[in-house]
Amino acid sequence: MISSPSRLIRFLLHLFFPRTCVCCGCDLSWTNENYLCPSCSKGLTRPGPLFCQRCGVNLPSGGAHCRSCRGSKAKQYKCQVIRSAWIFNTSSRALVHGLKYAYGDYLAKMMGWQMAKNFSRYPELACVEIIVPVPLFVKKERQRGYNQSVLLARSFAQNTGIPLVEKALVRTRDTVSQTTLGRQARLANMADAFSCVQPDVVKGKTILLIDDVATTGATLEGCAVALKTAGAKRVFAYTYAREN
Ligand SMILES: [Zn+2]
Ligand SMILES: [Zn+2]
Repeated sequence: MISSPSRLIRFLLHLFFPRTCVCCGCDLSWTNENYLCPSCSKGLTRPGPLFCQRCGVNLPSGGAHCRSCRGSKAKQYKCQVIRSAWIFNTSSRALVHGLKYAYGDYLAKMMGWQMAKNFSRYPELACVEIIVPVPLFVKKERQRGYNQSVLLARSFAQNTGIPLVEKALVRTRDTVSQTTLGRQARLANMADAFSCVQPDVVKGKTILLIDDVATTGATLEGCAVALKTAGAKRVFAYTYAREN
């Protein structure tokens, strides 16, 4: 059964450091190369079938746009389209949480691959020319040791072949935690939080922003404003998970 040296190493590692599902905590089999057990893996759910054509939020009762994007509102956004690989639920939340606070690089490889796999479901994003990850404020990145969006974007870029520009954007100020703010306050909080430091690279380009989770879309909008100001042609966004 344990035929190759790499399988033997994996088996021994499992013996001394048994791995558990990042979501439910159950023991994973030593042959399982994922981070979720089979039942939590099944919990990963794609958005739709009906979602807002602009921001990607699920619309269980149908329609083309959600309330925030309806009518002339859709055109006001600098970030034209937001799409996501999964709905933000117990399973995807566990992976996002692990990516941010524990396993970083290991999880990002698999999550970026999942993003690439689900990307083909969105032909509206097929025209993008370069990938730009959402930046963290420099102090926060130093504390964490990495930017989870950059890790996702690297793996996603590797799996799709779309060129990645890691440092096109910087976060110019440490924004207050968004969780307690309403929608309008979030947009205002993010409006001037980003700046494009490589205008020559983004000029005239159709850009795909990458982030871990889309909630109100305020962070993505803030980035899109900075990119458009720097001369980007169009800005779209693709996130690992979508919160409704
Ligand atoms: Zn599990
Ligand atoms: Zn919408």
